[in-house]
Amino acid sequence: MGPVVSNLNLERTSRWRWLWVLPRLAFLLFVGGVALLLWMSDRADNEERRATLISDVLWLEQNLRFHLTRNEELLGRIDLAHARNARDFEVFSRTMFGFESGLRQLMWLDSEGLLKQSHPSPMDQSLIGESMAVPSTQSFRLARALGKSVYSAPYPVLPNDWQFEVHVPVSREGKVVGVAVGIYRIRDMLGDSVPWWLAERYRISILGDGGRVLGTRSRVESTVDEDGYQVIFDPPGWGLTLHAVPYHAPRPLAGILLSGALVVLATVMLWSLWILRRHVVRRQSVEEQLRHEHSFRKAMEDSLDTGMRARNLDGEITYVNPAFCRMVGWPAEELIGRRPPMPYWADDYLDETRAIHDRVLAGHGPVEGFELKFKRRSGEVIDVLIHEAPLIGGDGEQVGWMGSMVDITDRKRAEDQARQQQERLQFTARLVAVGEMASSIAHELNQPLAAISSYCTGAVNLLRNQVPAADVVPALEKAVEQSRRAGQVIRRIYSLTRPSENNFEAIDLAERIEVALGLMEGEMRQRLVRHSYETQGPTMIDGDPVLIEQILLNLLRNALDSMRDTPPEQRTITIELKASDGYAALAIADRGCGIDPAVADKLFDPLFTTKPEGMGMGLAICRSVVESHRGRLSFEDNPLGGSVFRCLFPLSEH
Ligand code: ADP
Repeated sequence: MGPVVSNLNLERTSRWRWLWVLPRLAFLLFVGGVALLLWMSDRADNEERRATLISDVLWLEQNLRFHLTRNEELLGRIDLAHARNARDFEVFSRTMFGFESGLRQLMWLDSEGLLKQSHPSPMDQSLIGESMAVPSTQSFRLARALGKSVYSAPYPVLPNDWQFEVHVPVSREGKVVGVAVGIYRIRDMLGDSVPWWLAERYRISILGDGGRVLGTRSRVESTVDEDGYQVIFDPPGWGLTLHAVPYHAPRPLAGILLSGALVVLATVMLWSLWILRRHVVRRQSVEEQLRHEHSFRKAMEDSLDTGMRARNLDGEITYVNPAFCRMVGWPAEELIGRRPPMPYWADDYLDETRAIHDRVLAGHGPVEGFELKFKRRSGEVIDVLIHEAPLIGGDGEQVGWMGSMVDITDRKRAEDQARQQQERLQFTARLVAVGEMASSIAHELNQPLAAISSYCTGAVNLLRNQVPAADVVPALEKAVEQSRRAGQVIRRIYSLTRPSENNFEAIDLAERIEVALGLMEGEMRQRLVRHSYETQGPTMIDGDPVLIEQILLNLLRNALDSMRDTPPEQRTITIELKASDGYAALAIADRGCGIDPAVADKLFDPLFTTKPEGMGMGLAICRSVVESHRGRLSFEDNPLGGSVFRCLFPLSEH
């Protein structure tokens, strides 16, 4: 039992451990999956933002390049007449500035590089205070030599205010006649070319050598993400780059809510898992206690010698302990679930067993227990003493009956043997007593009879010898006296067996019957005999209580003996006592073998018996005692089978 239980425990524990790994794994997978999902969605967002950034920057670069190229072309197409006339040059410049081209100043240099026109002019009031640029001679020369537009390196005019120039050579008939110079102020160029929606998203800068910021366009004062994107800004070249850094965009609310919800969900999951685990751990410990309790009780039950058997309210067996199985010889599997008749019910006592079974199920079983005959599987019949108690379920309701059984076969056998021994002893004692009585009677009678014999013999001799009759008289008188003495002896013996009315007292016959029934109860239970007793009217009589009890005991014992072969369920003694015509009329009816008419006449004869161990004195004494009480004893057939013995006693007059 022990190792099996611990193996089971181990198995259960390891299974539980596995069961616990699953939800944990599921939880980790869930959290991991959610985190991966969030990370991937974030990454996709970033990639999308970056792709947008790149395409925006490329677009901006295209746009700027377009502006610069267009300006180059327009400058190259300047009318020489305009270039020579200051007024016309101003108009031309204003037109150029009107394209939002980022141009800040236009100049016209002749083929020698001399400044011929400038708008705004260096004397312009609005430019006072700002240092005016001097066009780059190097770029001029290069442009004139190449006959192509050339951009100058950016240079600051004020701190943080950088500009660069474009020198566009103007040729007529294959000859460079002058150079149109456009000056771009980087800050203004960005302001003109970068649309507002782009400026809201990025900080756009133009960087020079070593990453120095030459101009910036931004509309939002905010922190920026570190990683921006830059492209080479050519023209103008000179290592300029166009750099855009996206502003730190707030995460979308839906995303935050989703992440938050997932975190809450994971927490709730973890919490419920923890609660569940706590609950299961408690349950396990309770189960453990229950298992201990169960094995303890089982060990207790298994060690019992008392058979235990539980039945439900329908009479179906729900449990048997090993002692019960040993007692009846059937294994538990074959007994559990069985309904009546049970295989262990003794064949000869089926009806009686069924009756007591039904009584128990109806809740009217004998509280003090009852004896029954059971049958072993081998066919051997055993005596059992059974106590039944209600079986109460966990909800306090009765769910069946629990019976405890003790095998009393050996005890009964010993009791029977003791009783038989006792009966044999009593029989022998009675024989001895009768023998003694007979010898003492013989002895008592022997003397007067011997005397009578000798007196009579003497008288005969005298008469033969012709002796006068008067001489014979004394001998005959002595013989008469001796015969009187013999009569006295007989009367004395008779008076011993006949009660004297002087000893009579008023007794309640009903009470005596109850006493006699009490004395016989054990024997009746043992022989599975039931009895009923009814009394009605006055039952007081005059008599000897001990002798009356003797009569009752005798009649009851005869009734019991007569039912030896009667089926147990019919073994009934019915006792009726009622007053009738000044008599207390007692009837003791049995359901026994009845009285054979052939022996009916001899029934009251002394020493008549049909029983092997009988003495045949019972009824003879009964009748003489009844008659000494001025009563009558008779018998008749019982219409239900068996016989009825009737006694009549005169009712007491006191
Ligand atoms: P004993 O009981 O010793 O045999 P009894 O005088 O009491 O002597 O009975 C004489 C016989 O009468 C019995 O052996 C039995 O055959 C018969 N007898 C007595 N009572 C009954 C009875 N109730 N039913 C049938 N037979 C009976």
